[in-house]
Amino acid sequence: MATHCPYCALQCGTRLGREDGTVVVRPSDFPVNRGGLCQKGWTAPALLDTPVRLHNPLIRDPRGTLEPAGWHQALDTVADRLRLIRDTHGPDAVAVFGGGGLTNEKAYLLGKFARVALGTSRIDYNGRFCMSSAAAAGNAAFGVDRGLPFPVGDLDDAEVILLAGANPAETMPPLMRHLTGARLIVIDPRRTRTAEAAALHLQPQPGTDLALALGLLHLAVTEGRMDEGYLHTRTVGFDAAWQQAVAWWPERVERVTGVPVAAQREAVRMLGEARRAYVLTGRGAEQHSKGTDTVAAFINLALALGLPGRAGSGYGCLTGQGNGQGGREMGQKADQLPGYRSITDPGARADVAAVWGVPPQELPGPGPSAYELLDSLGRPGGPRALLVFGSNPAVSAPRAARITERLAALDLLVVADFMPSETALLADVVLPVTQWAEEEGTMTNLEGRVLRRRRLSGPPPGVRSDLDVLRGLAIRLGQPPERFPAEPHQVFEELRRTTRGGRADYSGVSYERLDAGEALHWPCPATPPGQPPHPGTPRLFLDRFAHPDGRARFRAVDHRDAAELPDDRFPLYATTGRALAHYQSGAQTREVPELLAAEPESYLEVHPDTAERAGLAEGDLARISSARGTAVARVRLVPTLRADTVFLPFHFTADGRANLITSTALDPESHMPEFKVCAVRIEPWTAT
Ligand code: SF4
Repeated sequence: MATHCPYCALQCGTRLGREDGTVVVRPSDFPVNRGGLCQKGWTAPALLDTPVRLHNPLIRDPRGTLEPAGWHQALDTVADRLRLIRDTHGPDAVAVFGGGGLTNEKAYLLGKFARVALGTSRIDYNGRFCMSSAAAAGNAAFGVDRGLPFPVGDLDDAEVILLAGANPAETMPPLMRHLTGARLIVIDPRRTRTAEAAALHLQPQPGTDLALALGLLHLAVTEGRMDEGYLHTRTVGFDAAWQQAVAWWPERVERVTGVPVAAQREAVRMLGEARRAYVLTGRGAEQHSKGTDTVAAFINLALALGLPGRAGSGYGCLTGQGNGQGGREMGQKADQLPGYRSITDPGARADVAAVWGVPPQELPGPGPSAYELLDSLGRPGGPRALLVFGSNPAVSAPRAARITERLAALDLLVVADFMPSETALLADVVLPVTQWAEEEGTMTNLEGRVLRRRRLSGPPPGVRSDLDVLRGLAIRLGQPPERFPAEPHQVFEELRRTTRGGRADYSGVSYERLDAGEALHWPCPATPPGQPPHPGTPRLFLDRFAHPDGRARFRAVDHRDAAELPDDRFPLYATTGRALAHYQSGAQTREVPELLAAEPESYLEVHPDTAERAGLAEGDLARISSARGTAVARVRLVPTLRADTVFLPFHFTADGRANLITSTALDPESHMPEFKVCAVRIEPWTAT
């Protein structure tokens, strides 16, 4: 059976089947992975019969213990308590938190459930932590944002690729098959596996990527690497952007970032001389209190070189979660309706309300972003109930201990998941739901390509689909049953209508076309009867950008410091990221024996000189403290790391949670937290 890996945004193609009663996975020759899988994909079948699988709803009893319950009892309990909280405190007293791993159908129905069945504006999702800065910068620059506005296969012919804050060799290894023909320039404070494969590694101090991007633009201009014709015919706003970059001469950039002048010049020379070049950004550029401006600065560089919208070249963002792209287009984001449309746009509200059968004025407006929402839980005026679908904020949110306190302060926490995540273990009601190979649906990968996820076998007894759960709750809350279908293809047919005319138009996509093997990238609008179906849009911007005048926008941005800098008390930078063996909060991959064996516990990468000064040696347990809290991790000495910087992966639990120390500073536009920079001290830790 042809389907896709349950994890990251590459959505590698697989064939799933049974051999001697055991579920086995094989990579398929799908264009993004071409017969390759990473260790997470190879071991994904272990999720299907994990011993920790939830098989019954659980309700917390008066003694505080989660006890098994029947589905009717669980859904009645949730609906009764939601109704009581809503009637007493108003609709915004109930909040919803979604996930970037949910199928398009689930993300869509979750957004509709929040706005129609609950009437709340309090909905956001974990993609806010993941790709929202690139989305804000991409929308402003190009008029629409799609992770990669070209197929992954286009990268095969690149001569030079600049990767700013992306580490695909560990986060999505099969992508490296597409990068081997190019000379890579990697910007990363760590010498990652991707950096080791690079022709040039620029190693800036954490939080200074924006200064580096400004410096690269400065050199592109002063060394005559600009594409003047492109600038005049396809862009606006260069002069204002240049006014900011003009002061970022190479020596100043070296002082601020630590990247030598010669390396800056070499990067610009490589990019400027290439006939086919790409600039790609990842979380390293985004997860800052200035993440939107940082991505915009790299887009400015790409525009100055004339790359976006040119065949064989371009700019793109490597999205992270499995359905990070589709998830943000389906209406589970605080400020958006399905079709990637603004919730404040009267036309979009009217279109969506018409499909949903409600008056537009009854649709709530925009709500707070993910961290702001989580931090408001249980506070005066804040939500008193939270429904979590497909997310684990007790591990993945910044300042995780505070968020755990906020979750505990709720009158009602409901978690729908297929295994007992850290957040589920805090819940008042846990609803066991289907996982990837037990359900039909669609996902949208990092290229904006809509993919079919298929069911190998039905869910185990006692487990229901998220769609079924939402329908059951909606009916109990007084909604007409026909408004909340539970069959994935029915939901997809509705979202086709709802996204029609939106930036992410899925109205021409159908299960039948996808099952026939068509490669459909959005926008793919429906065509009038009698006309051939729209072929989808694998490449955006070749003729014009999506702004009304068809031109891309430079953005005038300047560097500013991270929200928190090292001082006498916390003298080191800490940065966080992913490890090869794990995915997101690790709730799933920590339950796969092979992956846990490969990476069993949290670790701290530290330069040997820094470790020695702190009295730490390889294999010691270290306490890492910031102004917000303390984490514990096993020391790994890494001579290639900057001596002023330590690194922690964010996949681990308990005291190993990297997010116990992370900053809650938010980007003012995307509201993405500054996961990539905070100030810490390290010291030996001994269990007491
Ligand atoms: Fe799965 Fe991503 Fe690994 Fe591919 S790269 S096998 S999609 S985790």
